[in-house]
Amino acid sequence: MFNKVLVANRGEIALRVVRACQELGVRSVAVYSEADARAPHVREADEAVCIGPPPSSQSYLLGDKLIEVAKQTGAEAIHPGYGFLSERAWFARAVRDAGLVFIGPPAEAIEAMGSKTSARQLVTAAGVPVVPGTTEALRDASEAEAIADTFGYPVLLKAAAGGGGKGMRVVHKASEMASALESAKREAQNAFGDDAVYVEKYIQGPRHVEIQVLADTHGTVLHLGERECSLQRRHQKMLEEAPSPAVSPELRARMGETAAAAARAAGYVNAGTCEFLLDRDGQFYFLEMNTRIQVEHPVTELVMGLDLVQWQLRIAAGEKLPFDQKSFTPRGWAIECRITSEDPANGFLPSTGRITHLHVPSGPGVRWDGGIEAGSEIGLNYDPMLAKLIVHAPTRLLAIARMQRALRELVIDGVETSRGFHLRLLEHPDVRSGDITIQWLEAHLNELTGAPATADTIQLAAIAAALAADHDRNVRSAGAGEPTGGAAAGADTVPHRDAWRAVARRESLRRD
Ligand code: ADP
Repeated sequence: MFNKVLVANRGEIALRVVRACQELGVRSVAVYSEADARAPHVREADEAVCIGPPPSSQSYLLGDKLIEVAKQTGAEAIHPGYGFLSERAWFARAVRDAGLVFIGPPAEAIEAMGSKTSARQLVTAAGVPVVPGTTEALRDASEAEAIADTFGYPVLLKAAAGGGGKGMRVVHKASEMASALESAKREAQNAFGDDAVYVEKYIQGPRHVEIQVLADTHGTVLHLGERECSLQRRHQKMLEEAPSPAVSPELRARMGETAAAAARAAGYVNAGTCEFLLDRDGQFYFLEMNTRIQVEHPVTELVMGLDLVQWQLRIAAGEKLPFDQKSFTPRGWAIECRITSEDPANGFLPSTGRITHLHVPSGPGVRWDGGIEAGSEIGLNYDPMLAKLIVHAPTRLLAIARMQRALRELVIDGVETSRGFHLRLLEHPDVRSGDITIQWLEAHLNELTGAPATADTIQLAAIAAALAADHDRNVRSAGAGEPTGGAAAGADTVPHRDAWRAVARRESLRRD
């Protein structure tokens, strides 16, 4: 095992890696921007080095500087976390060329899976089903129309270099093709410096189901079951679970073997994830492979009973996986909510400020992977995800109840968060029954946020006034020591908790 590892990231994932290092007896080196000087990952690591000003282009994205810091501090390996440099083949290669170990797949595997078109070619050759479409960039709109005619509308234009849903356009009929292609190319060029766009069939009402894989340097490739990630807003996942309510043991085995075949085809090593669309008929199609640890990895850890981040380190250090495929059957149910500093009632606008009060849920089956604490400043330089709240319980409905309980315990004051949104989400009958698709969340956004999608200021002001009045009422009743349980018609338990939060806020202000 390594003696020392540099953690090239920030926030909850940096802290997650530092914790894994501590449990393995490995010393950790944190890096931080000036904005993160007091962040928990900096304090918890054995050493910490400031690498520059707040913008990530001047700090967390400076690959050469990170390598230099690793060498200066005597770290033997670099863990990239997710985001930032984690899927940059040049960085993985530069780390290797510097005589250090990149805790992730080989640069060649990142490259092979980095372009959607090359990934489609590679996995198709290995017998993996992909969404019908092209594996080459489109020359022009007439070529796109001719191809679309072969499998019918709607179709989806996608940037070959795509990520985060950028450079993607749904096209419903031939007459829309030319302008959609032009705008997809423009967006792809701006976002990725590469305007290659290809076309695939638009699958109606599928689920997003992904398979975790783990591969060592000795040729073992294992699949660790699925995660259901259909609840997305603008292609950003908001709640994930394992297993998926739509996947039987037989389908799990088939999807798992398919993911392992894709990983083998890429010469994959370390932890990775194959994303699939699963349609209503149980057909699944490979979308892409994420060549890194994912945000939602804890749900797999909880149902499979292993520490994926520790295994990333152990694999990178050359250890052999001691498991066989039969060891991996999901036990119970795990759910994760991504707690973000966004205001759902206001179009998910990022909310900034200082966290004045934080109460983290605990109790049976509750896990908090966070990168914040009371006093943390939340700015606009980085991703708005503050923490992940994860629960584990014997069944799906018990996991939902546990998550609701944990969300109610959670208090974050100082910034708006997605907490109330997640509570409403978990009360919805479709979510409770698992009847969801990748379009479900967007289609139900208004009822979940309680705000019109395009609210004008008058409506917003009216809502704010109503909420304030409701808030005052609840503060009064909570102050009297008797929870109302939500007095307003159709109200869930949020108003009561909000009242309690207001009391907590007053208390913490007093303590300050
Ligand atoms: P990105 O790398 O930009 O995230 P993906 O290929 O992973 O792009 O697709 C992002 C999301 O778009 C998927 O999670 C799914 O919700 C939707 N999507 C992608 N391909 C299709 C398709 N062929 N049909 C329907 N929806 C799709």
